[in-house]
Amino acid sequence: MKSATISKIIKKIKESIVVVKTDKNIGTGFIADKIGIVITNAHVVEDSTECEIQMFDNTSYSAKVIESNFDMDIAFIKIISNRVFKKASILKRKDYNVGDEVLAYGNPLGFENTVTKGIISALDREIGGIKYIQTDVPINPGNSGGPLIDNRGRIIGINTLKIADASGIGFAIPIIDILPLINLTIKKYKLAPDSVYCNVCGFRNDSNSLWCEKCGAKLLENVEKVKKKYKKCSECGEKNPADAKWCKKCGHNLDLE
Ligand SMILES: [Zn+2]
Ligand SMILES: [Zn+2]
Repeated sequence: MKSATISKIIKKIKESIVVVKTDKNIGTGFIADKIGIVITNAHVVEDSTECEIQMFDNTSYSAKVIESNFDMDIAFIKIISNRVFKKASILKRKDYNVGDEVLAYGNPLGFENTVTKGIISALDREIGGIKYIQTDVPINPGNSGGPLIDNRGRIIGINTLKIADASGIGFAIPIIDILPLINLTIKKYKLAPDSVYCNVCGFRNDSNSLWCEKCGAKLLENVEKVKKKYKKCSECGEKNPADAKWCKKCGHNLDLE
């Protein structure tokens, strides 16, 4: 890949690449939907329910995790904003091969927006039941979750550090293999944006559930919501709606509490 080609690709894709910051980790992600849905590795967000997303121009947004698939090591995050974001171009069918030049885009070791060039060394490298694209692009902490890009600026994989133990080797989850998961998760979120995320198992639950349907864990976000829905009268103990001014049972002024 010529450097002119590389800068053209970077120009095309940089608005769609983000830094993902949690209390514990830093990683890379990319925008998979214009409403601000970001994809990264699940091990980047771990058990966080909230994170910070930093854009190429250094603006940053609060974001919440909407679903995680810990088996596939993929997490979905929603940027809290009504802005329209630039979606990355994602490869829809497998038209790459061993020897093809690729770019990894990420924030290795906290250096922002670093581009590394390499080639595809092997396809279908199976580790722990998942088939990876193997490259000679070293994946460092911070690079994880970022895209592997082809010579037309399309995302072909998600770089992941998790299994890269040898230096000089990088692995990426093929985007083709997770397209159904991506499409389903985004669709599910758009249908029920107020549904609630379980940070224990990664499942997205009904907006009213107090416990996770899948793993049984308490959904703290909803427990808090329910708490906020009522105002308990300090005089008689009656549960009043959160916006009530007077207690419906004893007439006590709830605004004074
Ligand atoms: Zn759960
Ligand atoms: Zn009362």
